[in-house]
Amino acid sequence: MSIVEITDLQLHPVHTRRETGSITPHVIVTLDTREGISGLGEMSDLGHYSLRDFPPLSRLRGTLLEALRGRDPADITGLTARLAQTFPGGPFHKEIRCGVELALWDAVARNAQVPVYQLLGGKVRDRYRVCYPIFRMRASDEIPDNLRRVRDLMRRGQDAFRLYWGADIEADERFLAAVRDEYGDQVEIKSLDGSNQLPRDEAIAALRRLIRYRPTHIESPCQREDLADMRAVRETIGAAVSEHVASLQQGYEFVAAQAVDIFNISLVAMGGLAAARKLYALAEATGTKTLIGTTQELSIGTAAQLHLGAAMPNLDYPGDAAGPLLYQQDVVRQRIRYCQGYALVPEGPGWGLDLDPEALAANRANFG
Ligand code: MG
Ligand code: MG
Repeated sequence: MSIVEITDLQLHPVHTRRETGSITPHVIVTLDTREGISGLGEMSDLGHYSLRDFPPLSRLRGTLLEALRGRDPADITGLTARLAQTFPGGPFHKEIRCGVELALWDAVARNAQVPVYQLLGGKVRDRYRVCYPIFRMRASDEIPDNLRRVRDLMRRGQDAFRLYWGADIEADERFLAAVRDEYGDQVEIKSLDGSNQLPRDEAIAALRRLIRYRPTHIESPCQREDLADMRAVRETIGAAVSEHVASLQQGYEFVAAQAVDIFNISLVAMGGLAAARKLYALAEATGTKTLIGTTQELSIGTAAQLHLGAAMPNLDYPGDAAGPLLYQQDVVRQRIRYCQGYALVPEGPGWGLDLDPEALAANRANFG
């Protein structure tokens, strides 16, 4: 691999519309080098916090360029350590660091003319089973729309979904019953995601009703002030429990408290591919299962999840990376493809994706 030198970095704010109608902000990162190799990254999704806290993009670009200009993108460990000093953990810091790290991986793999998964040791699978998200219902009048969505997904061959539950248990139960009634075991209810909203005992009472619809696992079942509460849910409900893991340290704490069966490894929330990879070692050493989660990325962020998933042998459960199914717009020429409930790992140098400048311009947003 020849030495290359970073010359520029651009940040492109975009908005994309979800099938559900809501609008989600992202920042696309493009990295340029003197040798003509470029790299693509993505900060996604940025809808979780107030965009007022996002740094002005021109200032952010200047800060990033100061850390990166003149450097070799292959120096991923050193460059991400530098970025971690500047962005130690404030609002959007993880997304910013991750977006840049992804662009570095893409540039390095493109320079080597290999897919990113080759840099991670090669692929052990070329597709990954994923589910589509059905968002939390506040009342039963939202059931028909969600049933229509499931029917539409089933017609398109997308036969796995997850349900965010917990605002109206009656509605959750009626919806799950209707789905099982209509599709039996043809559909996979991949998980019930509680987003840590309910206190332990309320969560247990609700899950006793919902577990009979045979979800593959339960995610973030209850409030998490005390990890013993999660362990109590696991042991009472008798289903595998997953939780998002934000750091290696947190993964260790979950294991020590016997709070989870499955690490939900959502790359963006973790702050990068290198950090996410460490969690697979922890999972292997402790007998913890894994899945690849999401914060709802466009194709670039999803490709990063898929290259990681392609290369990690101990990937056990279906994942959540369905952004390219959820969003009506994207910024690449060929978005991630899905087939019969699987996401296909893209092939070609880097992520295997090419930016579509027209789509980037068409979806341009005004924040930052
Ligand atoms: Mg979740
Ligand atoms: Mg999200």
